Order: sequence, then structure tokens, then C-alpha cells
Amino acid sequence: MRLHQTLLASLTLSALSMPLFAADEVVVYTARIDELIKPAFDAYTAKTGVKVKFITDKEAPLMARLQAEGANTPADLLITVDAGNLWQAEQMGILKPLQSAVIEQNIPSQYRSSTGSWTGLSLRARTIVYSTERVKPAELSTYEALADSAWASRLCLRTSKKVYNQSLTATLIETHGAAKTETILKGWVDNLATDVFADDTALLQAIDAGQCDVGLVNTYYFARLHKQDPDLKVKLFWPNQADRGVHVNLSGAGVTKYAPHAAEAQKLLEWMTGPEAQNLFADINQEFPANPAIKPSAEVAAWGSFKADSVPMEVAGKRQVEAIKLMDRAGWN
Ligand code: FE
Repeated sequence: MRLHQTLLASLTLSALSMPLFAADEVVVYTARIDELIKPAFDAYTAKTGVKVKFITDKEAPLMARLQAEGANTPADLLITVDAGNLWQAEQMGILKPLQSAVIEQNIPSQYRSSTGSWTGLSLRARTIVYSTERVKPAELSTYEALADSAWASRLCLRTSKKVYNQSLTATLIETHGAAKTETILKGWVDNLATDVFADDTALLQAIDAGQCDVGLVNTYYFARLHKQDPDLKVKLFWPNQADRGVHVNLSGAGVTKYAPHAAEAQKLLEWMTGPEAQNLFADINQEFPANPAIKPSAEVAAWGSFKADSVPMEVAGKRQVEAIKLMDRAGWN
């Protein structure tokens, strides 16, 4: 074992692509944190004997690294937690378009790249949360209505620097156009109860503590906090059920352009869209399976079903630059 470890440690990254390992290994660059992805890799290795090595970092450095490494990259697969980033990776030319009947069968087209460069693996709803002490659900309706004066000094938002909010804004622009979206965002900013938050969990805690009454978060953050504190005085609300539906984003992956083990990487990616991995993703992070044949966890199912926005996820990428400029103009820090 020690010899094995020493041998591995002495290998340079480029050596990982040597044919010696070609048949039984896949190397993954992942922006999805270890504890959310390792159980799936372990299950795959147990099933197939294929080893999965992974390096975890934020999306931007991983994508920059892939670009810098070019044809010498050891990475076969890139995993990110936002569609906007997958689109960016595709534009950078660091992903390889695939044709896969398995993926096409498992994942609806709105959650895949139209070129086959990436596919969604799990869905995350970014929805309204409210104080059960100071808000009645009947007072809530849409994302847009949070710009109304009724919510003055009552709204909490996460920073506009987070890609989740950029993707949400991109889909608002797709629906309403830039001018109307700017008015909505300005209304949100005017209604802020306090400075923007660095993360969704802090925002949820602020509502619980009475600092604000409503906000926008990804549902898995709510699930995590609710598990820690079942008495959390915050609930989820599904907005826009009479029109376009709840904003959803996705965690997904694509095979890299210069994948040394491209065929193995495609097999792993295909497996990740199937029942075993989809159930793991759904249960570990309380997300919604991207494969509609797979049911969410009991905890997530208890939130009730909702209509999700059907806008293609590519919009999050295509309109990302526009969204960032617009958020800046609206004064969203
Ligand atoms: Fe997240």
C-alpha cells in the first residue's frame, strides 16, 4: 500500500494520461465539494473497477487550469454547480461535444447543452423563503412582486457576485427584457433590509433572527439548515406558479476537449445520469434529480410539487454578461 502511494505521488499530472492507466481511470476536475461527489465516485468504482481521481476547486480556477493545460490536461471530466459556468466552459472550448443516446434518454433537453458539450446532473430550485412569524404565504406571489413597496426594508438578498443570482437574472431578462428586469432589480435593491449576504445560509439565519422577512435561496441550503434546526422559523414558497414557474439551475458536467480517457469519462457521465447516481445526488444534497424518472428524497418531496421554469439552461450562460451589467446598474452589490 505504501509503495503504491509513493508510486502514485511520484507521478506527474501529465503521466496520469499515460496508456498504462488508460483503461481503468477517470480524472475529474470538480467544483462540487468532496462530500457531495465522492459517494457517487465510490459507488462507480465499486461497480466497475474504474478509479475516479478528482481535484476540487472553484469553477473559475478549474476552467482556467483546463485552458492553460490544453492538450496536456490530465482531466477527463469537468463538474460545475451552475449552468452559467458550463456554458462558459463550452465557449472557452474546453469541453468535447458528445453524442450519447443514454444521456439524451435520461436528461430532458432543456437541461443539456444543445451541442452535447455538457449535461445537467441535479437541479436546484432558487425560490422565495419567508418568515413564518411575519409573513403569510398568501402575501407572496412572484419574484417580481418582491419589488413592490409592501416589501420595503423587508427583503434579504445574497451578493450579485454569486453566479446563482446572475443565472436568475439572466432568466428574468429572457422573460421580461432588459428594461423591465432592471426595474424589478432596482425594486429589490430599494427593498433591502440590510447589506447583501455572502451566502444563502446566512440569509436564512437572518430571516429566522428577524433581520428581514423574505429572501431568495437554493432549496438545499434550506434543507441543511432545517435539518440542524427543525424549529427554523422560515419556510419555502414556490413563486410564479401562474406563469413561468420557479427558477431552477443545475449542477452538471462535460467531458473535456482533450480528455486522455474520453471513452471512460463518457461512460462515467452516462452512469451519473442513471438511477443509482441520480438517487445519490438527490439524497446527499437534497437536490432534485435531473432525470425525471427518479424521485427526490422524502424530505424534498414533502415540500410539495411545483411548476419549474422551462427556459433552456443555456440562457444562464448566454445572458450572463448582460445580467452582471444589469445587476450593477441596479445597484445590487
Ligand atoms: Fe450552492
